[in-house]
Amino acid sequence: DVADLPSVPDWLPDHLRNEGIESLYPPQAEAVEAGVTRGQNLVASIPTASGKTLIAQLAMLSAIAGGPAEDAAEADKDDERAAGGTALYIVPLRALASEKKAEFEEFEQYGLDVGVSTGNYESEGGWLASKDIVVATSEKVDSLVRNDAPWLEDLSCVVTDEVHLVDDGERGPTLEVTLAKLRRINPDMQTVALSATIGNAAELAEWLDAHLVDSDWRPIELQKGVHYGQALHLEDGSQSELPVRGNEKPTAAIVRDTLEDEGSTLVFVNSRRNAEAAARRLANTVEPFLSGEEREKLQGVASEIRDVSDTETSDDLADAVAGGAAFHHAGLAPEHRELVEDAFRDRLLKVVSATPTLAAGVNTPSRRVVVRDWRRYDGTAGGMQPLSVLEVHQMMGRAGRPGLDPYGEAVLLANSHDELDELFERYVWADPEPVRSKLAAEPALRTHLLATVASGFARSREGLLDFLDRTLYATQTTESGRLEAVVDDVLAYLQVNDFLEREGDELSATSLGHTVSRLYLDPMSAAEIIDGLREWERTAGQQDTQSPHDGREAADADGEPPGFTTASDLVSDDDGGAEEGGEERNVEDDEIPDPTAMGLYHLVSRTPDMYQLYLRSGDQEEYSMVAYEREAEFLGAMPSEYEDNRFDDWLSALKTARLLEDWASEVDEDQITERYGVGPGDIRGKVETAQWLLGAAESLASELDLAATPGVRKARTRVEHGVREELVDLAGIRGVGRKRARRLFDAGIETRADLRDADKSVVLAALRGREKTAETVLENAGHRDPSMEDVEPSDDVSYERR
Ligand code: ADP
Repeated sequence: DVADLPSVPDWLPDHLRNEGIESLYPPQAEAVEAGVTRGQNLVASIPTASGKTLIAQLAMLSAIAGGPAEDAAEADKDDERAAGGTALYIVPLRALASEKKAEFEEFEQYGLDVGVSTGNYESEGGWLASKDIVVATSEKVDSLVRNDAPWLEDLSCVVTDEVHLVDDGERGPTLEVTLAKLRRINPDMQTVALSATIGNAAELAEWLDAHLVDSDWRPIELQKGVHYGQALHLEDGSQSELPVRGNEKPTAAIVRDTLEDEGSTLVFVNSRRNAEAAARRLANTVEPFLSGEEREKLQGVASEIRDVSDTETSDDLADAVAGGAAFHHAGLAPEHRELVEDAFRDRLLKVVSATPTLAAGVNTPSRRVVVRDWRRYDGTAGGMQPLSVLEVHQMMGRAGRPGLDPYGEAVLLANSHDELDELFERYVWADPEPVRSKLAAEPALRTHLLATVASGFARSREGLLDFLDRTLYATQTTESGRLEAVVDDVLAYLQVNDFLEREGDELSATSLGHTVSRLYLDPMSAAEIIDGLREWERTAGQQDTQSPHDGREAADADGEPPGFTTASDLVSDDDGGAEEGGEERNVEDDEIPDPTAMGLYHLVSRTPDMYQLYLRSGDQEEYSMVAYEREAEFLGAMPSEYEDNRFDDWLSALKTARLLEDWASEVDEDQITERYGVGPGDIRGKVETAQWLLGAAESLASELDLAATPGVRKARTRVEHGVREELVDLAGIRGVGRKRARRLFDAGIETRADLRDADKSVVLAALRGREKTAETVLENAGHRDPSMEDVEPSDDVSYERR
């Protein structure tokens, strides 16, 4: 019973009862027995929707209430702090951070303060120090550690959600290393890790010195199965008729069948666009089943959705919602996601089509789950790849609403009898894969070794190996020597690139190395950027001055445009030559032309921190041509066509760079999506990454005193606002944006100052008569209009500081 919980705040039992929680679920009871409310470390590997969140809350609330009351010595120590320190909750996705924050905010009525930390990777988040519970992604926590956030020393409890993601090649190592660092900073801290059911939870527990709760218990029975032909085939061997009519799709048939029984369906698909398309179609299936009252309420939700923002996504979502269906993915505005989740929980929405984000952390149970797509596009692996058993089981776990449904059903869809068998083998009967550390890979170690040395967690090769001994990798590996070998390779790389220095046994980060670590760059990205900028400075500067000292013929002897370099010019270069460029620059800054935006976009697009666009058939030829046409703009030498892989990478980066260039040249979003075969969310993603990388390039250029700094800044602000140079000033005003900036410019309002003094009627006309928009924009520009004297001064600070 919740009244018997040891070491929790007094108010908690009543609070839980108000939430409808009278007694603990069996895995929760096990966790309490294992001491989760008394500061014990715990790994909980239990199915989706079986109450992991409460376990996390019990740990955090008891930790911040002042730690273990039973142990007198411990209690004394804790009393010295004002409260029991801060609890940190690590989420795998930014989209889930606000979700969790909202969940924990219900404790604010008891005087607890909850904060969420996302966004910029360069600050120490000092304001978080006063919070009792902080929610953040592992990348954010990693960057807080790198920036020496002092409040991290007051952590009394850290909870890691979805800890099985340490298996992820890209993000897993960050989580692994970050947990090791937090535990090093706070040896007494309680560590709680929540995992989906996996095969090797005991290994995770061993790694974290934790008790293990490993359970298959579910609050409601789940039947997994496959739909094929006209029937549902379930794992207990039963079959139930589920006919597909005429040209109806199987998903629609399942949704209809569930509706006839007054149930709801959650449909998992493999991309945002598929989620949107499915919702549109399934609304047609749902619509006839809606009652008059439901229709009215759904109209209400639809108009709330439209009020959030005035975009195509918002419109599409509202249209689907009016028909009783919705889509859900990480590209939605948080307000949109919340409206969708609430309406689904209130049983107003009958169908939600979602990408796997929803399976990961959001509590939205439904009678049936359809896993429509069991393959997804994976660029690294090339083509469509099957989802892992673990992922599919997590999606399936959302089936069945406790207290409402007799049981849940979760099905995959088969197109043939063979596929029916395959899906049973592959997913229904299969056990989830064991989780394996991906740390012993060069790209992961490059970043983390530098950061580990830079923030002082290790000061020698031995110290590093000792630190790595606290990772999951060390727990799992039997291959002695492998990690050491990779560490040595990586250390050599970091030294050659001047990020680390070695004196005897002593390892330390150079000033450049510190910067790279704080900027949260992959050192290889930093090296690529630095080389590119130096190369530009050396070759572009040379042409104007024909600097004789390095004996090279300047390209402009042939009358080539400035910045022209040929591949053969540079192939013979060694590192030393490039390095000298920075110090021995014997030309004045102003003689070196700025690199073009295209050149810089290409530079950052070829770093490992940019997820490049893929070349489709026909792209090879097209982008080879573009590459030769624009060769003069590249920072660094283009590889020869005979170096297949390097040349193809160069072209992929070029395709990515051209998307960025289009964006920064005011090409319409619709046109860009068509031209590159991407979604609007992808454009945003590339733009954000480019902005971050160019910001980092700017810091590196100024630290190394390179001439390209102003050019980098221009390229960054252009891509940030999606405009040509002349609009940067206007587009920086809140509420203006790329389209409105162009309209204002065309109406003769060319700068922020122009707008401040502009005639309101001119602005109104330029903004197509939208009164309210015009007023907001004028206000944000600090318009001098006597009729607006009373208006609060607008918050210009964010603009000025950009
Ligand atoms: P998980 O994080 O494991 O996927 P959640 O923690 O979101 O699952 O829990 C799923 C649902 O079960 C939530 O609505 C939660 O309020 C409810 N729940 C959790 N524990 C209990 C309990 N002991 N008794 C009743 N309901 C509970």
